Amino acid sequence: MATKKQKKALITGITGQDGGHLAEFLHQKGYQVFGIIRGQHNPKKEKFVAEFPYVNLIEADLTDQSSLINAMHISKPDEVYNLGAISHVGYSFKNPQLTADVTGRGVLYMLEAIRLTDPEKKVRFYQASTSEMFGGKDYNRPDKGYNENAIFHPRSPYGVAKLYGYWITKNYRESYGMFAVSGILFNHEGERRGTEFVTRKITKSVARIKLGLQDDIELGDLWPKRDWGYAGDYVDGMWRMLQQDKPDDYVLATGETHSIEDFLSVAFQEIGIDDWHPYVKQNPAFMRPAEVDVLLGDPSKAEKELGWKRKVDFRGLVKLMVKNDLAIESEKI
Ligand code: GDP
Repeated sequence: MATKKQKKALITGITGQDGGHLAEFLHQKGYQVFGIIRGQHNPKKEKFVAEFPYVNLIEADLTDQSSLINAMHISKPDEVYNLGAISHVGYSFKNPQLTADVTGRGVLYMLEAIRLTDPEKKVRFYQASTSEMFGGKDYNRPDKGYNENAIFHPRSPYGVAKLYGYWITKNYRESYGMFAVSGILFNHEGERRGTEFVTRKITKSVARIKLGLQDDIELGDLWPKRDWGYAGDYVDGMWRMLQQDKPDDYVLATGETHSIEDFLSVAFQEIGIDDWHPYVKQNPAFMRPAEVDVLLGDPSKAEKELGWKRKVDFRGLVKLMVKNDLAIESEKI
């Protein structure tokens, strides 16, 4: 009896939050997983190899076309997930050119590497697009939230670079008939989130406050609202997009929006504190030159066509993150 050929996936940004979740997800589905890792002595490598021994790492860089072609030759993937990016909005204001090179032009280099090595157009390509492309203003936000047809108005060098990635992906699909799609993902968080993001910064600090390791948290603006989901749920949606008959773009979101104040309330309640105000200080250093006001996504199309739905809700997300940080921080005592 003929056995089914093992599928192969190549992931850029493998050491990031979504890279870890996706590698785990695809490995469980029986894929052979390849990941691109950057730099000669990447400090993340050792930790990554210990946690994901089944991932085949390839040294390459999103700003180096030939290294990506080489990665295609080595891995010969069925699916490519482009998650690699300078992905922090605040950082992108400080390093706008690097952000344009990696987050924007890197998408073109990856698409070209596929086009040049896959003349039969068998490879399926996923581009990690983002809700930051919408910008969060009232005028362009439909009542049910941003959907696949909403108007873009990026508010950071990161959002602008991601918009280039979105359009070049669409352009390669239309120009060359490639199976190239964008997932427009709203904020997704979890245990693997970096502390440069507000959710993890809060849950880590809350855990440390509970354990007496820290007195307070310094934050920027508290009124912006985000559609926060759990990263583990979102990688399933990415994979589903590449299993469709036809390539298309999809929004993944929870359909709910909450302010940073809401996040603080739930996180502090988890450690038995009802009023978080005495523990939070505002610091302009964490404010941005332009802010995204309200992000709310409408995932109806993904729910209908992909059969995808988030499993973890807002409260569940905050709880699991606080619990995880309490476990990590207690070990340090
Ligand atoms: P983003 O939505 O991709 O920018 O994700 P972040 O987690 O970095 O930021 C979410 C929101 O939290 C933004 O509106 C930030 O301006 C706001 N915010 C307030 N204080 C902080 C802070 O100390 N760090 C970060 N990263 N964001 C903060």
